[in-house]
Amino acid sequence: MRRALAALAALALASCATPIEPGPVAELPGAVALGDATWLVPGGFEPGRSPDGNSVILRGSAGAVLVDTGRHASHSEAVSRALGALDLPLAAIVNTHWHLDHVSGNLPLKAVHPDVRVYGTSAVEGALTGFLASSAASSRKALAAGQIPAAAVPDVEGDLQTIGRGSELRPDIVIDTPHDIVFAGRALSLRIAHHAVTERDLWIYDVAARRAIVGDLVTLPVPFFDTACPESWLAALGEVARSGAQQIVPGHGPVMDRRGFARWRTAFGDFIACARGSRALESCSAGWVSGAAEWIGQDSARAKAMADHYGERIRSKKLDGFCKA
Ligand SMILES: [Zn+2]
Repeated sequence: MRRALAALAALALASCATPIEPGPVAELPGAVALGDATWLVPGGFEPGRSPDGNSVILRGSAGAVLVDTGRHASHSEAVSRALGALDLPLAAIVNTHWHLDHVSGNLPLKAVHPDVRVYGTSAVEGALTGFLASSAASSRKALAAGQIPAAAVPDVEGDLQTIGRGSELRPDIVIDTPHDIVFAGRALSLRIAHHAVTERDLWIYDVAARRAIVGDLVTLPVPFFDTACPESWLAALGEVARSGAQQIVPGHGPVMDRRGFARWRTAFGDFIACARGSRALESCSAGWVSGAAEWIGQDSARAKAMADHYGERIRSKKLDGFCKA
C-alpha cells in the first residue's frame, strides 16, 4: 500500500514534459549517441562469461533517466562515466525486468545516487523466492563441487552476492500497469508485457523520438528463454511493432530500425514454431542462426549451441509453467 501511494505521489509530482532540445553534450564517453538526447551503453557478452544487458541514458531538462544497469562492475562504471559527462542529477532508474544482467548495477549506482528512485514491475517478488533462490542454491552446490569453470567463478560469486542483497532489488516505485510518465522533464510511455521474458516485463516507448527501448523482448545472439513463455513473448513483439517505433533498442545487441526488427521477429516466430513442431531440433537452431545471421556474424557456433539448448526447453514443455496466468 505504501508503495502504491508513493507511486501516486511520484506521478502527481511529475512535471510537464519539455521538448527534447539538443543539449551542450552530444557525445558521452563509452556510449553510442542515438539522437534525441539518448545514448546506448552497450552490454557485453564475452565467451565463457555472463552477459551485461544494454543500458540506455535519456536526458531530460532537469535530470537523466537510466534504463537498466548491467551485471558487472565494469558495466556500471561505464554507465557512471557516461552519466558524469552529462553532469545532471540521476532522476530515475527504470528496470525492464529483474534478470541480474539488467538490475545488479542498481546497487552500486544507488550507493552513489542515494536520491534516485527505481521503477520496475513487482515480478521480482516471485523471482526472489523462486528462480533466484533456486539458482543461488544450485550455484552454491556447483561451486562447492568444483563444477564451475575457473573463468566463470567470479561471475557466479558476484551473482550470489547480488542475490544475497535481493531485497534491495525491489523497485521503489512499482509499475505493473501502463503509465505515461514524465521523468525530470522527459515524457515516456511505460508499457507492460505479461508472461513474455519474465512474469511481467516493462518496455518503454519514447513517443517524441518514436523509439522503443524493449529490454530482453529483443536479444542476441539468441532469444534468452530462461524464464520466458514463448507465445506471450511473440504477442508482446506484436505490441512493439504496433507502437509506431521507428527504432528498437534491444536488451542485448545493436539498435535496429523497424525493418530489422521485423526480420528479427520473423526469425523468432519461426524458431518457436519449429521447436513446437516435430522437425529435428537441429534444423530449428540452424534456421535461427540463418534468420539472424546479419547480427550473429562470427558468433554462429555459440548462437547455434544456445539455440539448441533453448529449442530443447521449448519442445520438452519445460517453459510452459512460465505461461500460466
Ligand atoms: Zn538480459
